[in-house]
Formats: sequence, structure tokens, C-alpha cells
Amino acid sequence: MSAVPLRNDKAVASGVRIVSVLGATGSIGDSTMDLLRAAPERYQVEALTANNNVQGLATLAKEFGARFAAVADESLLGELRDALAGTGIACGAGESAIIEAAERPADWIMAAISGAAGLKPALAAVDRGTTIALANKECLVCAGDFFMARALNAGANILPADSEHNALFQALSSGNRHELTKVIITASGGPFRTWAAADIEQATLAQALKHPNWSMGQKITIDSASMMNKGLEVIEASYLFALSPDEIDVLVHPQSIIHGMVEFSDRSVVAQLGAPDMRIPIAHCLGWPDRIVGRAATLDLAKIGQLTFEAPDFVRFPGLRLAYDALRTGQGATTVYNAANEIAVAAFIAQQIRFGAIARLVEDTLNAWIRAGNLAPLSSADDAIAVDHNARKMAATLLPQIAAKAS
Ligand code: NDP
Repeated sequence: MSAVPLRNDKAVASGVRIVSVLGATGSIGDSTMDLLRAAPERYQVEALTANNNVQGLATLAKEFGARFAAVADESLLGELRDALAGTGIACGAGESAIIEAAERPADWIMAAISGAAGLKPALAAVDRGTTIALANKECLVCAGDFFMARALNAGANILPADSEHNALFQALSSGNRHELTKVIITASGGPFRTWAAADIEQATLAQALKHPNWSMGQKITIDSASMMNKGLEVIEASYLFALSPDEIDVLVHPQSIIHGMVEFSDRSVVAQLGAPDMRIPIAHCLGWPDRIVGRAATLDLAKIGQLTFEAPDFVRFPGLRLAYDALRTGQGATTVYNAANEIAVAAFIAQQIRFGAIARLVEDTLNAWIRAGNLAPLSSADDAIAVDHNARKMAATLLPQIAAKAS
């Protein structure tokens, strides 16, 4: 049983949908607002949030007639008040205001705050038992078991907004859970798909940032190059759909047209296809359980010509292997995997370590964490945040020796 609703438990959508967007000023927020903008008669915006982009937030709040706008940085409350003066839009600042935004009455909430800061607001939305389009990875990678159990208890619908998980969500509707034999998440392979291990080791930041298909933020683009992002997605899929690591395969598919597939017991494989545009999975979540008119380009397979596939290489991309290891270990290991990777990516961007050292730092942190006897089940957001915090500290401590080995 999962809080991701499958085909037999669809509700019927009707009337105007009241929506809130947590992380409205980001890349996922932007795609969401683009879809809302296209059908203003269908949506009433309740709350919008940002971290410190006050002007961007105020502009959106005014454009969409939001009832509430919140900024995480408390020092910016005055600026937000000034920007919204005379509009009648209520506003707030600080973590409590972001949580208030999540708690306000909405039928549909986009959880697109980046990083661990997204966890508590998403939990606040979950506790309302509403429908949540989940983009934030940390909710699942850092606290997956606990997050999904809480969603199930609260009667919340978790709709996966990430393209691969959304593809699985769509394909899963073709059968029943007990008929599923495995899911397949596709990966573009990133810019280093065909590179030799020695070249990947030495890759520069500019090379890591050249994603062949998707246009995304810096961190997630580097994670795509190391395939850590695919590792995070394997972990997310496991928690979202209550799948064991053995039920999740990764398939390299350089064109990024098929985003995910589900194999059923009769050996049928059901795939979801679409252009690499986040507005497609977000539109599916926004319309669910119906379909709305999308804003992405239509798919022209004749023009694309060829779809090709390769097995992933766990040796050249050890980050993917480590994700499966962390998932099998459980008890906070996936939280450690994510935290160590964030430290490693920041160090790579700051040119403190080579590209190849990203996975080494993650592996060393995981091993040190286990050796220290730190594994324990997570049962609250505070538990997850504490593990995240301590794992970051441990990774930062190990960083100098990893950096020294590489030089
Ligand atoms: P962005 O960095 O573009 O946007 C992040 C949003 O969160 C912004 O609105 C930002 O506000 C806000 N924010 C950042 N820090 C805080 C904080 N401490 N408290 C409150 N709000 C905060 O990220 P993306 O939109 O790319 O990604 C959002 C999430 O979705 C991430 O978890 C990402 O991994 C995931 N995701 C993204 C995909 C993509 O294609 N971009 C694909 C799949 C998943 P401000 O603008 O003021 O900084």
C-alpha cells in the first residue's frame, strides 16, 4: 500500500482547483506557474513561497491574485510587505510562514522547495491530507519511509512530479501492484556517457555542466553527470512505490524520450514518452486525475528517428552502485548518501576535489557512518534533519584527505 494513488482509487476532479506552490520562484515553480497561467479560470492560487527572491515572489503573487505569500528569509519581511502594499495579499517571513503557506487550505500543493528545507513544509501539506505534487527529492531520499507512512496515515495523495517517477506513476495505472515485476528508470547517461574512467576522473566543471538534453540547475546537472541523480531517483522510486532495490532497474537511454517503464507479470512493458520538458510531468500532476492541455512541444518520433538503450556502467559511475548499497543498508544510509553528495558537489564546484572524487567522498562517508555505529531508523523530520546535518559534518571532515589523495 502506498500513498501514491493508483488507478482504482481515482477521485473525480471538478470545479476550480485551489493551489499553492512552495518554491514558486524556482525552476519547477516557474514551469508550474506557466501551466497555471495558461488556464486562469481553472485555478485559484492560495499561497506562494520563496527563499529570498522577494521581487519575483511579489510579482507572481500579484499576477495570480494569491491570498498569501511567504519568504523564508525573516529579514526580508519589510521588503515583501512593501512590495505587496495595497494589494490585500497577506504575507509572512521565516520557516513558520513557509509552513503556514503549506497549511493553508489548498486542494493541490506543489512541493518544489529545494533541499532539506523542503521537508517540514511538505510534511505540513501532507498532514492536511491533500494532494501534493512532490518535486523535492529530500522528502524521499532523507525521510522516505517516514514521509510516505505519514502521507498514507493522513490520506494525502502523493503525485510524483519528477519526470521518471511521474512516468512510472502513469505506467503503473496499466495494471495492479501485485502484477508488477519491475520498474525501469531511464537515464540520459549525461555528458560523460561514452567517456573513459580516467577522463571522467579529471572532468572539469564546464564539462559536467553540459547536459545533453535537460536544462536544469547546477547541482542537479552535476548529479546527472555523475549519475548520482539517477541513484537518488532509484531511492525515491523505492520509497514512493514501496519497491525493493531488486525491483528497480536503470536503463541508459541517451535521447531522454522514454522516462520510465513498468514491466508486468504477463511481460508487457508499459512506457511513458514525452519531450524532455518538466511541464509534462507537472501538467499530469496538475490535471490528475484528469488530463489538461499541456504547454510542452508535441513529440515527433519520426523526426527523432531512433531511440537507443544501453546498460548502465556501475564501474565508471560508482555513484549509482552506492545508491543501491545505501538503499539496501537503510536506517538513514540514503540520508547520508544525499548529504555527502551535496558536500562533494559543493567541493567540486569550489575546485577542491576532482570530479571522480565526488563518489569517493560519498563512499568514504557512508563507510565511516556505518563503522561509527550511527545507523538507526528515522521516525521524525527532526531525526532526518539531524542525520543530514551530522552526515554533512562527517563528509566535511573527510573532505581534506579525499582532496589530498586526488592531487
Ligand atoms: P530551484 O533552485 O530552481 O528553486 C528552489 C525554490 O525553493 C525557489 O523558489 C527557492 O526560492 C526556494 N528555496 C530555496 N531554499 C529555500 C529555503 N531554505 N526555504 C524556503 N524556500 C527555499 O530548484 P528546482 O526548482 O530546480 O528544484 C526544486 C526541487 O525539485 C529540488 O528538490 C530538485 O531536486 C527537484 N527537482 C527538480 C527538477 C528540475 O528539473 N529542476 C527535476 C526533478 C526534481 P528563491 O528563488 O528565493 O531562492
